[in-house]
Amino acid sequence: MSVDERKRRARAGREMKLDGNAIGGLLREIFTMEMTTAETTCAGCGAVNAVGRVDVYVHAPGAVVRCPNCESVLMRIVRGPGRYWVDLSGTRCLEFAEP
Ligand SMILES: [Zn+2]
Repeated sequence: MSVDERKRRARAGREMKLDGNAIGGLLREIFTMEMTTAETTCAGCGAVNAVGRVDVYVHAPGAVVRCPNCESVLMRIVRGPGRYWVDLSGTRCLEFAEP
């Protein structure tokens, strides 16, 4: 087992790893359209993935979205009282269809 694989497993054990569908509702609150079919381009490695297929780690009160290819953080979404914080610095591009 590689060091990366060991790290990945250790992290998965500490955190609840889900897929992008887990934040479909949260994204819908923010973007007001279906975002799980949107495509995100990783700023780290350039991989393009549907939001529904990325890796999601849920931490109260927010979520960390990671690239399934290189594990870079694509998005951080925190929901506070009456407010959202969305960090998309790890996403080079977010492409989605017109509703
Ligand atoms: Zn990546």
